[in-house]
Amino acid sequence: MTLVPTRIALNRPLPPLTYLAPAGLAPGVRVKVKVRASSAVGLVLGPDAAPPAAKLKPIEEVLDPFPMLPSKLRELMAFAARYYGVTEASLLPLALPQALKPRWDAELPDGRRLSDLRDAGAWDELAGVGEAWHAGSLSLSTLLHREDLRGAGLTEVRRTAQPHPSRVTEQQARVLLALEEADGALMEADLLRAAKVSGAVLGTLERHGLIERLKRVDPLSQRREAGVDRTVTLNAEQRAVVDAIPLDAFHPHLLYGVTGSGKTEVYLDLAGRVLARGKRVLWLVPEIGLTPRLLSRLEARFPGRVAVGHAGLNATEKQADVVRLLQDGAEIFVGVRNAVLAPIRNLGLVIVDEEHEGSYKSEEHPRIQARDLAIKRAQIEGCPVVLGSATPSLESWHAAQSGRYALHRLTERPAGVTMPAVEVVDLREAYKAARKKVLFSPRLVEGIQAALSKGEQAMLLLNRRGYESFWMCRACGQSLDCPHCSVSLTFHRAAHRLKCHLCGHEAAPPEACPFCGEAHLRGVGEGTERVEEELARLFPSARILRLDRDTTSRRGALEAALLAAEHGEVDLLVGTQMLAKGHTFPKLTLVGILGADQGLKIPDFRAAERTFQLLTQVAGRAGRAERPGRVILQTYAPDHPAIRHAVAQDFEGFATEELPYREALAYPPFAALALYRSESEKSEEAKAALAAIKTRLGRVAGLRVLGPLDAPVARLKDRWRFQLLVKSPTREALGEALRVAPPPLGTGVSLDRDPQSFTV
Ligand code: ADP
Ligand code: ZN
Repeated sequence: MTLVPTRIALNRPLPPLTYLAPAGLAPGVRVKVKVRASSAVGLVLGPDAAPPAAKLKPIEEVLDPFPMLPSKLRELMAFAARYYGVTEASLLPLALPQALKPRWDAELPDGRRLSDLRDAGAWDELAGVGEAWHAGSLSLSTLLHREDLRGAGLTEVRRTAQPHPSRVTEQQARVLLALEEADGALMEADLLRAAKVSGAVLGTLERHGLIERLKRVDPLSQRREAGVDRTVTLNAEQRAVVDAIPLDAFHPHLLYGVTGSGKTEVYLDLAGRVLARGKRVLWLVPEIGLTPRLLSRLEARFPGRVAVGHAGLNATEKQADVVRLLQDGAEIFVGVRNAVLAPIRNLGLVIVDEEHEGSYKSEEHPRIQARDLAIKRAQIEGCPVVLGSATPSLESWHAAQSGRYALHRLTERPAGVTMPAVEVVDLREAYKAARKKVLFSPRLVEGIQAALSKGEQAMLLLNRRGYESFWMCRACGQSLDCPHCSVSLTFHRAAHRLKCHLCGHEAAPPEACPFCGEAHLRGVGEGTERVEEELARLFPSARILRLDRDTTSRRGALEAALLAAEHGEVDLLVGTQMLAKGHTFPKLTLVGILGADQGLKIPDFRAAERTFQLLTQVAGRAGRAERPGRVILQTYAPDHPAIRHAVAQDFEGFATEELPYREALAYPPFAALALYRSESEKSEEAKAALAAIKTRLGRVAGLRVLGPLDAPVARLKDRWRFQLLVKSPTREALGEALRVAPPPLGTGVSLDRDPQSFTV
C-alpha cells in the first residue's frame, strides 16, 4: 500500500502536522496518530504537496472508512474554523463523540466488508461508499451498531459518598478506580469494559454500599404529561407568520413576540410542514434542563421522531443520540449550543429559540456563537432559519430593521392572558422611610402575603448567590478577598464558609479581621441564601424553594425542583436568573425583583440590554395562566432606560433608545469586535504578549485597538490577565485583520471573536 505525506489537523494548539498515510484517504476521515509520546485523534485535511524534509511518521490507524459527517456540516465546520481562528479538529468533538467508532466489519450489499476495501487500499471506493451512505442510497445497517446502545433504560453506576474501604479485592479496586477516573459515574457497559470485570463484582460493591446503580430512562419518556398534546388552531397573527416564512429557500427570520404570544406554536407548525416535505428540523434551545415542557409538547406532537442533545448527557447517551441522527432515526433534533454542529442531514429548518440568550456563546475554547453559526448552517443547507425572542438581541433587531432579516411579530397572548402589571418601588424612598436598608419593601411583603393567602405562588429574583456577597472590616475598611483572584469572597451560611465564586477557593470565616485584628467584620450585600432566610422568618408557614447554582449543582436537581414548583408543591421561589427562563408556573401571580439595577453596574456595553432582557423575561413569568399577574420591581435607579422600558414592557422603546448609543460608541451591531485575552503568572509577560499583537494590528487600516488593559478580574487562579479589544466597521474587515495577528501558540493568549462576556 502506498503511503503519502498527508496533512492532519489535531485538536491541540498546533498547526496541522504531516504524517504518512494511505494514498487517497478522503479529507474528513479521522485517524489515530502519535504526537510526541501520546496517541491523538486527528482529522485528515489532504495530501501535503510540500512536505517537510524531516523523516515522517506513519499514522497509527485509520478510524473511519469515510468521513462520518455530512458534507454540508463539514462545510460549516470549515467556515467556523476559519471564522473563529481554530482548527477544524477542535470543533470535531462538538459534532461527533470521540468514542463513536464505525465498524470495519460492516458488510456491503455484495458481501465484501469495509475492511476488505481498506486492506486493498481502495480508499477512493470507500469514499464513494460514504457518499452513497450519506445520500441514503446505500444502507450499512451494522456500521454504527453497538450492542449496549440498544433500547432505552441504560444503567448508570455511581460512586456513593461512603469512604473507600481499606480492604477490597483487586477486581473491586479496578471498578472503584475506573469510577474515580470518570468523576464518579459511568454507564454500566462502559464501566464493565474499563474495569474488565463481570457484573457480579458490581453486585457485591452495591451490597456494600460503595456504588449505586441507577436506571436512566430516555430523557423524553418521563416528560410525557397529559394535556399537552392538544393541537391548537393558530390564530390569524400566527397563521400570517407561518405563511410569511417560505420553506424552500435560505432566509433569516426574526420572530419577535412577547412571552406567551405563541412563538412555540409557530415553530411547531413550521416543523410539521418541514417534516411533511421529508426534511428535518434542528431546534436550538438555550438550556435543555429548563425546558421540560417544550420537550413534552414536541414529543406529544411528533411521537418517536424527536431526539435530544442534552448538555448533561453522559458519553454513552450522547453517542446514542448521534448514532440516531446518522442513521436517520430522528427528524427533529433539539439541543443546546453545540447541537448547531449536530450531524443531522437533509435539514429543512433551523430554529433558535430565545435567540438573545448568552448561553449560545461558548465561553471556552472553541468560542463559537451558535446563533450565528445556525444562520450560516441554514445558508449552507438552503433552508430558512427562525430566531425567536420576546427580547431580541440588538444585533438581530438591527438586522431586521435594516431588512437583512425578515421581521415577524406576535403581539397578543392567544390564551387570553393579559400582560402583568409592573409596579416600581423606589428603594431610595423606602430607605428614607425606614431609615435603614430595605430588603423587602412593605409593598412587596404585602404582595407576597396577598398571593399566599389566595393559595398562589410568588417568585423572588436576586442575581447573587450565597448569604452575603462580601465581608469587610468596619475598623480598617479591608474586605476579605480570594488569595488567588482579584474578587471578594462570598459568605455561605449553611456551609459556614467563605467561597470564591471564580476559582472555588474556600476558607473558614475568621473571627477577627486578618488585617487589623479587630473583631469588626461584617457582611455586605445580601444573596439568595440570606433572602431565603428572611422569607422563612417573615412567612414561617410557606414552603420555600431556593434555586441557584448552590442548590441545583446535583444532576437533575433543577428539573426536579421545577416540576415540583409547576405542580404547586412550592409557595415561594427564590433564586438567581435561572428563574427567568422559559417555564410556566400555573399558580405564579407575583414576581418580585429585589435588586433590579444590580446588573447595570457591570462594566460591559451590554449591561443595559441584559438588565432589560432579564427584567422583561422574569416579569413575563407572572400570571401566564388564568390568573392575572403582578410584578414588583425594587430599584435604586427607576429612571434608567433599561428599567423604565422594562417596567413598560416596551422592547421597541428600549431598542430605539439604546441603539444610538451603540452607534455613537462603535459597538455591535454597528461594529464587529474581537477580544484578545492574555494570562500569565507574570503580569509583564501577559501584557507584553498583547502589546506585540497590537503592534502587528497597527499596520491594518480602519481598525481601532484598545488596550492592553487589565481584565475586569485582573487576577484569576493566580494568573494575571489582560485584554486587547479590536473594533472594526465590518466583520469581513475584522476577519482579514485577525489573520495578520493570530494568537501565538502556547503563550496563554486566546482570541474571542464576537465576545459576549467581558467581565471574567
Ligand atoms: P411563547 O413560545 O411565545 O412563550 P407558547 O407557544 O408557549 O408561547 O404559547 C403560550 C400558551 O398559549 C401555550 O399554553 C399555548 O398552548 C397557548 N397558545 C399558543 N397559541 C395558541 C392558539 N392559537 N390558540 C390557543 N392557545 C394557544
Ligand atoms: Zn479565587
